[in-house]
Amino acid sequence: MIADCENVTRTYTRGGNSRFFGSSSNDRPTVTALEDVSLTVHRGEIIGLAGPSGSGKSTLLHLLAALDTPTDGTVTVDGKDTSTLSGRERTRLRLTTIGIVFQRFHLLPALSAKSNVALPLVEQGLGKRARHDRATDLLEKVGLGDRATHKPGELSGGEQQRVAIARALATDPDLIIADEPTGELDTETAGAILEVFEGLANDRAVVVASHDDPTLAIADRRIDLQDGRVVSNGD
Ligand code: ADP
Ligand code: MG
Repeated sequence: MIADCENVTRTYTRGGNSRFFGSSSNDRPTVTALEDVSLTVHRGEIIGLAGPSGSGKSTLLHLLAALDTPTDGTVTVDGKDTSTLSGRERTRLRLTTIGIVFQRFHLLPALSAKSNVALPLVEQGLGKRARHDRATDLLEKVGLGDRATHKPGELSGGEQQRVAIARALATDPDLIIADEPTGELDTETAGAILEVFEGLANDRAVVVASHDDPTLAIADRRIDLQDGRVVSNGD
């Protein structure tokens, strides 16, 4: 097991600064984005997270990626209860264990493809030569060996997403979290990106949220969310 959610609930407070809801947070309406969700993520599997817009997919991914902590219940990643970690410890956990791919790529526009991929390695304190070699290898792996010096603005959407995948792989994470990674791409480009994802889950785990069928089709197991609850877990 690489990650586990046990009876996880996440609520948000509506109207954070609004004068309409009184001054105490207790007076403000809350939104339950996730309710009592339990899920175990094993190495070697691709989990497809399905459900309509607003069903809680991104909220669950943020919890699994240790970008957020639950209001109730326990999220464990690599044996660590994320709620017990400091912000710095969660950052460390992400840097060693988790790779994240977003719908809109989130690359730094001023940096070359290679420098974007190498960025997590800078944070890890790896030397320049080793960073260069690793980033070059990864860009080749995602089919972008000849685009290493291009900046994101000079790359197509599909190419940018390949760079983002290479960046997510830079630290050789055990858990890859992807939030609608083909949502911005045309069907053909999306298909090529999905092939890259299919090759990732050997000894690591991939959790991918999507509402399109081709993406969910690469999953070994599908979890369906509706209104923040698991309505089907593929068993
Ligand atoms: P999905 O990714 O499936 O579209 P989300 O996890 O983004 O769903 O959202 C689930 C629910 O939580 C929605 O009702 C959404 O409006 C609400 N929500 C998500 N993030 C926040 C936030 N930061 N503040 C308030 N409500 C939020
Ligand atoms: Mg979402």
